[in-house]
Order: sequence, then C-alpha cells, then structure tokens
Amino acid sequence: MLSFWEQKNFLNYDLIVVGAGFTGLSAAINFKKKHKKAKVLVIDRGVFPSGASSKNAGFACFGSLTEILDDFWSMTPDEVLQLVEKRYTGLTQIRKQFGDQALRYQHRNGYEILGEEQLEALEQLPDINHLLKKIFKKEVFSVVKDPSKFGFSETVKAVVKNRFEGELDPGAYLNALWEKASGLGVRILSGVSVVEVNHEEGRVLAEKKGKKEIFEFVGERVAICTNAFTQKLWPASPLEPGRGLILLSKPIAGGIPWKGAFHLDRGYVYFREVEGRLLLGGARNKDFEKEKTTEFEVNPIIKDHLNRLAQEVIFPGRPLEWEMEWTGIMAFGTKKSPIIQQIGKKTAVAVRLGGMGVAIGWQVGKELSELLSDL
Ligand SMILES: Cc1cc2nc3c(=O)[nH]c(=O)nc-3n(C[C@H](O)[C@H](O)[C@H](O)COP(=O)(O)OP(=O)(O)OC[C@H]3O[C@@H](n4cnc5c(N)ncnc54)[C@H](O)[C@@H]3O)c2cc1C
Repeated sequence: MLSFWEQKNFLNYDLIVVGAGFTGLSAAINFKKKHKKAKVLVIDRGVFPSGASSKNAGFACFGSLTEILDDFWSMTPDEVLQLVEKRYTGLTQIRKQFGDQALRYQHRNGYEILGEEQLEALEQLPDINHLLKKIFKKEVFSVVKDPSKFGFSETVKAVVKNRFEGELDPGAYLNALWEKASGLGVRILSGVSVVEVNHEEGRVLAEKKGKKEIFEFVGERVAICTNAFTQKLWPASPLEPGRGLILLSKPIAGGIPWKGAFHLDRGYVYFREVEGRLLLGGARNKDFEKEKTTEFEVNPIIKDHLNRLAQEVIFPGRPLEWEMEWTGIMAFGTKKSPIIQQIGKKTAVAVRLGGMGVAIGWQVGKELSELLSDL
C-alpha cells in the first residue's frame, strides 16, 4: 500500500532504464548529461549489477588475428573494419572519459598463441595489417621473435603480438559508471526485478526480490538494457544467450613469466595474469548447444578443457590450483553488431553486445540515449 507522497515522488520518471550493466549505466549517464533536469531511474535485479558486466574477463580488446580472419566468413571487409573501429573507438572513449586509474587499465599488449594447425593464419597477417592501417595508422599485429620466453608448451608454434590491446578491472569500470551516474543525480534501484514493460505507455512493473508486492513505475521513455535476459521483456528479441566460464587460480608459485591479454582459438579462449594468478576463460565452442542458456552453472566439459589447457599448454609441468570459478551470460545473434532500436512508442532497446561489451558498452549506451532523446 503506497502513500500519497510515495506515489507523487517515487514512481514517475522522464527515463527509466532497465539493467545497470555497462550499457544501461552509459545510457543513463549520457541522457542525464544532455537533459540535466530529467528524472532518470535505473533498475537492476541484482544487489549490484550482476549481468555480464561484472562477470567478464576485463579484456580491452577488439579482435585477435584468427578472430578477425574468422569474421571474413560471415562479413564483408568493410563490415569487419567497421566492427574493429567501433570497438577500438569505444576503448579510447572510456579511457578518456574515466581515466586509466579509475578503470585500473593496464596497457600490457594483447597476444594470440597459435598451434601448428593455425600457423597458416600468419600468411594473411600482412594483409590484415594493411587493412587495419586505415584505423590504426601503424601495424597492429607482429610475430614475436622468441615465443619460448613465455614458457608455454611446445605445441605453441607462434605468438602474435597486438600492441593496441590492454586489460582493465570490469568491477572498477562499473564503479566508475555507477559513481558518475550517482553524481549526476541518476537514481539507481538495485535488487528490484522488472517483470513487465508496456512498450507503448511506458509502464514498468517491478518487484523486490522475494516479495510479491508489485510497483508500477511510469517513464516518458523506457530503455531496456538487459542484454542476454531480454526475452522476458521483449519476447520478439532476436537474441541467443551464450554462457562464458572463468577460472581463477591461486597465486602461481614462482611467478608468471608473461604479462598481457592472451587469446587462442579464434578468440573463444582467453587468459591473463591477475595479481599473480591465472585468469582463464571461454571455450563455449567446446559445447555450443549446452552453453546457449541463461543458467549460471559450470559445464564440466568446458571446465575440463580449460583445466587441460592450463596444465598442459600454459603452465606445463608446473603446479596450479583453482581458487574461484564463475559464469556469466552474453547475448549473441546472427550478426556481431548490437541491436539499438525503438520497439514501441515509449521504449527502445540496446542489447546483443556479444563478447565485446567492455569496448562497445559506453558507445552503445550513448547511441541509445540519443535515440531516446528523439522519442
Ligand atoms: C565470462 C565472460 C567474459 C567476458 N569477457 C569479456 C572481455 O574480456 N571483454 C569484453 O569486451 N567483453 C567481455 N564479455 C562481454 C561483456 O561482459 C558484455 O558484452 C557486457 O558486459 C554487456 O553489458 P550489458 O550492460 O549490455 O549487459 P549486462 O552486463 O548483462 O547487464 C544487464 C543487466 O540487466 C539486469 N537485468 C536483467 N534482467 C532484469 C530484469 N528483469 N529486471 C531488472 N534488471 C535486470 C542484470 O542484472 C544485469 O545487471 C564477457 C562476458 C562474459 C560472460
């Protein structure tokens, strides 16, 4: 039962954003910056933002050599170039907007490790460098002269360096977004789940976790930024969830002989050093069908694959124990580009960020806020 005061002050907004991940918070910040007097509410079902944005690996990346080559099977060269440019521009923007310190950004380069069967990718390296020169003005990829210095197994035949990639702490990035939004006067409600959105009237029905009481908020505009969890609020959404697993080791005795953001297997697997530990993740391509889920569970086939990679390829012959594991859910579709579109008189969405939300989340949120301004 609500009071007169609650009804008058807490339920009506100029913009309601559902989802407080990179995209939702970026949309709220950019909208509030443009419309200083607007009342903006962000609602998230987690106690803190608990989608992919707080569960990812923190790679500030835009595509490894074999991933870019793989994209040519489904995209034109111009589309591939646009995708890389969008990701790289996004990374440049967040570093400028929040600063490397706030993001805990480290520029330690990106690398890709190649086994015998991927070596032919090196033949196309000069062509890819030539294509990417339009964006970077310099050569992006180079072959590391002495790959044995990393201490990987002998199955690693070559290592390709990418001098434009780095790493960040995704929780620190979310904190920076959260603080910026709060500083601008954006109201953030956490632990509240949106159960229904009326796309034409801007009515947003929400309930507190575990409680049956339903609150009806009304927005002049509503933004749905729930990425992999969008089906419920927009049943026609052309999205497919894709789960990702991350394993984090205990600190590695004797230290780690490399630093940087490493990729393998067309970007499906990735690893980096985090405070003396190995963070290793991905490999959903080892059981694609089962990983098309929004359930936060660990698939033993994938865990086993990653575990073997760690023991046999990354740290052969060295003891390694896992300290933590977690999963997060991404959203994919037939195209690698995000969906930013109006879906009702008062509602627009920005979803399907794939595995690159660190790079593109801010820009996607900004584009959504521009679209919302015109509604
Ligand atoms: C394991 C893993 C590793 C990854 N590694 C990288 C990486 O290294 N680099 C990179 O660029 N990208 C990476 N990604 C992808 C990146 O994390 C995502 O693209 C990005 O976080 C998407 O952000 P988002 O804000 O669109 O969605 P999300 O972060 O998923 O946010 C959606 C939010 O909506 C909320 N929500 C959902 N339903 C409701 C509801 N009904 N009511 C209220 N709130 C709701 C959720 O709680 C969540 O906070 C990775 C993803 C995973 C899972």
